[in-house]
Amino acid sequence: MRTTGPLFHGTTDGEKLMKEKHTPRNLGRTTRAIHVGGLKEPVFGEVSVPIFQSSTFSFPSAHDGAERFSGRQEGFIYTRLSNPTVAALEENVTAMEEGYRGMATASGMAAITTLLLSTLNQGDHVVATDSLYGTTRVLLENELPRFGIHGTFVDTSRLVFIETPTNPTMILTDIRQAAEIAHAHGAIVAVDNTFASPFLQRPLHWGADVVVSSLTKYINGHSDVVGGMIVTAAPDLYKQIKRLLCLMGGTMDPHQAWLILRGARTLPLRMERAQKNALRLATFLKNHPKVTWVRYPGLPEHPQHELAKRQMDGFGAMLCFGVKNGLEGGVMVMNSVRLITLAVSLGGVESLIEHPASMTHSSVPREEREQAGISDDLVRLSVGCEDPEDLEEDLDQALNRIP
Ligand SMILES: *Cc1c(COP(=O)(O)O)cnc(C)c1O
Repeated sequence: MRTTGPLFHGTTDGEKLMKEKHTPRNLGRTTRAIHVGGLKEPVFGEVSVPIFQSSTFSFPSAHDGAERFSGRQEGFIYTRLSNPTVAALEENVTAMEEGYRGMATASGMAAITTLLLSTLNQGDHVVATDSLYGTTRVLLENELPRFGIHGTFVDTSRLVFIETPTNPTMILTDIRQAAEIAHAHGAIVAVDNTFASPFLQRPLHWGADVVVSSLTKYINGHSDVVGGMIVTAAPDLYKQIKRLLCLMGGTMDPHQAWLILRGARTLPLRMERAQKNALRLATFLKNHPKVTWVRYPGLPEHPQHELAKRQMDGFGAMLCFGVKNGLEGGVMVMNSVRLITLAVSLGGVESLIEHPASMTHSSVPREEREQAGISDDLVRLSVGCEDPEDLEEDLDQALNRIP
């Protein structure tokens, strides 16, 4: 069986059909979000990219089919390999990340799984941020060991996997420093850029080799669809990962891509509004009598405020804080909010609140939770785009119910 070549070439050349409206790097980030990613030739002059809801694409002749598979001819073949609507989204996010090329995946976890399985071999080790997105941690700790891949801190590591800022503790990693150390040891550096989004942080610029993100969160921004993306800095890694993605099939559906591209157009606007709200709420919470501490990279008290200023173009809209009365205090706030929605996930236009100790991490023993920085009193808030007065009022009445 042919394992390299055709699968890959067939897809990449199809994507060349996509239009490059301008040279993305010369455009501002907001303009890029709005304009990059579309068809080379609109069919009816349409402004929005159509949904190409087709699993397969016809060849003009048997000869053309052969040419497309060999990579000598541009053109789409089959949606698991590539699809025009999906390619438009890939182009858009890649321009935002300032990477070489991107590949959309069915979910954020599909992006992470594909990255890990395409870059690691039996006996390899992964060095990862300790407070990782829960499901990524489960994958590294419980699933990959079955294939002889372990997540321990050893010199022979093949992959360094960074999440910055971390979920839910809002701790940062210096990407440039980590990349220098990792590269000196021959390891690939991957960054999960979900929390900041490419509008506020471009890890490839700081030396990372690949970025993964959950498009479910900020890039889509409307809490209505799940998706993921992998963007690499260079062609070789792109080929390596894309090959496995096409083989394993965790690709994105065109309708999903269309919805996410619609969301991506307003990422800069939503992010600007949400982070403005977040700074205001962080300051409000800091002065609230029922709040014991606040961690937001935009506050000068954040231990890595200087790093955040250097590495990010804004402080984002995620924050966490501690409430009086620990576990009970947290539960009280969860049950008392009226406008802010009690739900996991993040990055939507609506504010979402979560209490890890009683919800997402309730099955983790308290000692382990504390070790990962998830104290009983920690409340996580994904600040949305509402009027800030309304959010303040809601938090105030909920906090005041803590005895
Ligand atoms: C949500 C999330 C993921 C997983 O993404 P899905 O789209 O839910 O599969 C991975 N990393 C981070 C930081 C996340 O917040």
